[in-house]
Amino acid sequence: MICYVPAESSPGELRAALTPTTAAALTKLGLTLQAQAGLGFASRYADADYREAGVEIVADPAAALATADLVLRVQKPTADEIAALKPGAVHLSFLDPFNETELLAKFAAAKVSAVSLEMIPRTTLAQKMDALSSQASLAGYAAVVQAAARVRSALPMMMTPAGTIMPCRVFVIGAGVAGLQAIATAKRMGARVEAFDTRPVVEEQVKSLGARFVKIDLGDTGQTAGGYAQQLTPEQIAKQQAGMAKVCAQADIVITTAKVFGRKAPTLVTAAMVAGMKAGSVIVDLALETGGNVEGAVAREDITTPNGVTILGHPLLECTVATHATQVLAANFAAWITHFWDDETKSLPLNREDEIMQGSLITHDGAIVHPRFATPSSA
Ligand code: NAD
Repeated sequence: MICYVPAESSPGELRAALTPTTAAALTKLGLTLQAQAGLGFASRYADADYREAGVEIVADPAAALATADLVLRVQKPTADEIAALKPGAVHLSFLDPFNETELLAKFAAAKVSAVSLEMIPRTTLAQKMDALSSQASLAGYAAVVQAAARVRSALPMMMTPAGTIMPCRVFVIGAGVAGLQAIATAKRMGARVEAFDTRPVVEEQVKSLGARFVKIDLGDTGQTAGGYAQQLTPEQIAKQQAGMAKVCAQADIVITTAKVFGRKAPTLVTAAMVAGMKAGSVIVDLALETGGNVEGAVAREDITTPNGVTILGHPLLECTVATHATQVLAANFAAWITHFWDDETKSLPLNREDEIMQGSLITHDGAIVHPRFATPSSA
């Protein structure tokens, strides 16, 4: 079975779907691995190391794409790349399936089995392949590092003969995987950290990291069976904004990570709240890719507002630590493959009874098979 890993072509994407370590493990399973030259260049993995792990660096990427049984890549492919795939091939990547209806139809038309990393269930069994978590954790860390580099203040309190430097105040909005890592990182750097989340279970986790949980009474917020936040009503959002305005005004760094799975992220920091913040403060919006939490944030652009607040616009902060983001992401890919690999036949049967397969397989055999995305005509 041939597995091909193309180099990423989308702007700003520095990660890869394979490392020499995972290549060695997958080769050992019995996969024949091929990769495009320079696959790990941006994330600091050398072609020579891939070769040593048993990967063939191919001379003709188009031919490799067309003959592979399994393709691994980080970002969703283009329509042309899908059309070039072999019918029956399995394609594993992030797909943004809620917003890419046409792309899903193209996968079905090409008779490719498309697996979406986003849709892998967030269960204990699937933890090793949970790419959303592995990347969100690094993004949370990177958000603090990037903000610290821009805020022009030290994060920790320092007692010096020339006077006391007060600790930076960091406010984290949304304390899921990314937010909790941001809190932990800011605490380690000595900042005074506050956080808010709509899921009540998060309060204990925030406190256990040594941060203060900001209390805002929004009434019933709850969470989904999968542990995700529920969408708030406009009245609840307005209450939340009012409750957070003062905390934002006192903060030196605001990091927002608030997402609602499968929906546009809520606008939580309004232009008026930004206008009320201190000159020199920095905002990092980690929900930018799904619509953004901060009014005025612009993807791929850093904005400084008239009152001197900098809003960073890096949409893929995990790429600022691409070596480690690639290390764990490639491990997520390898875990998915290993879970389904049949050692006897040295093949990858798509066991449709398996709950991880049911969660993550979007198209198969010419149809959109995932119930969340299937239309009456595609099922
Ligand atoms: P996410 O990226 O969808 O959302 C990030 C955070 O934003 C969440 O904590 C959410 O509650 C919060 N949020 C949403 N709307 C908000 C609002 N208006 N104001 C403030 N915060 C808001 O979620 P995530 O970080 O990927 O995961 C969330 C949860 O899923 C985890 O904390 C956990 O409970 C569960 N999870 C479970 C597993 C597992 O069991 N293997 C793995 C990962 C995540």
